Amino acid sequence: MRLRAGVDLGGTKIQVVIVDDEHSVVGEARRPTPTSGGPEAVAEQIVQAVREAAATADVEPSELVGIGAGSPGAVDARAGTVAHARNLTGWEGVFPLGPTLTEAIGPPVHLANDVDVALDAELALGAAKPYSSIIGVWWGTGVGGGIILDGKRWDGRGAAGEIGHTVVRLNGAHCPCGRRGCLEAYAGRAAMETRARRLAKRKRTSLFAIMEKRGRTQLTSGVWAQALEEEDALALALLERAVAALGAGVASAVNLLDVEAVVIGGGLGTRLGQAYTERVSAAMAPHLFVPENPPAVHTAALGDLGGALGAALLVLDRGANTKAPPRQARASSSSR
Ligand SMILES: [Zn+2]
Repeated sequence: MRLRAGVDLGGTKIQVVIVDDEHSVVGEARRPTPTSGGPEAVAEQIVQAVREAAATADVEPSELVGIGAGSPGAVDARAGTVAHARNLTGWEGVFPLGPTLTEAIGPPVHLANDVDVALDAELALGAAKPYSSIIGVWWGTGVGGGIILDGKRWDGRGAAGEIGHTVVRLNGAHCPCGRRGCLEAYAGRAAMETRARRLAKRKRTSLFAIMEKRGRTQLTSGVWAQALEEEDALALALLERAVAALGAGVASAVNLLDVEAVVIGGGLGTRLGQAYTERVSAAMAPHLFVPENPPAVHTAALGDLGGALGAALLVLDRGANTKAPPRQARASSSSR
């Protein structure tokens, strides 16, 4: 049995899967992302998570065919480095994540951008399977994105797909990227939290009580989801604002590229699920230039494990294992 590992490195958690040739998950582990100690601490936690996942799959970590890892920040796949992973504490510089993991565990490590691998997974195994042209919208802390045209990812000059920084309002809200009016300034979880903290001073909301009860220090997707269940007025209003911005931004991208489908993933997209996918779809409608022929809009089908499953696919694309089933999409090699 040739087993591969996939690592999804996120701002709050490290998710690892061990998969077989059929992409079935045969082992799994999840650990919180360290918030101190910088990239070294994160790498050490990944090593522990891979070992733990390998143990649940009954395989020695050194016997894995390869390890794929999806990471935020600027990924240099060739060098195996990650830089400017802004959602991870203390990761401003360039860190040799690939070589560090290989040295500790043994198998070759293949890196790519986290959103790219998640979209590749949806294309190969999930909601985007029937389509050859797709816009992926990864709705989480920020709003990431990816573009598939003719079955291949469109990288542009390395930075394509940043749908979160398309402008939905001139001179609009401040975006975490430092600019104004970006989609992410309205729909990104980080921007939504900043606004919620400001508005909570004069509006009643249970958002922060829920956060504390869950032992969190940030408004996670789970906190937002629970506030919605409790029909918290501020949470509802902020999500409505986010949906309106997503409708405008995604519809504009569809007007430009005329893709067959839009896949909505990411922490919030996955957590809020089908109901919110439908709301985004409805919010897109008035902005579509050809409203009688809208694209299909789906929630990412692989859910929480999409990033890790996509990362495991990197081993097939880049590794020596050529016996594995072929994929629709080519390897993720972005360095954005
Ligand atoms: Zn921006």
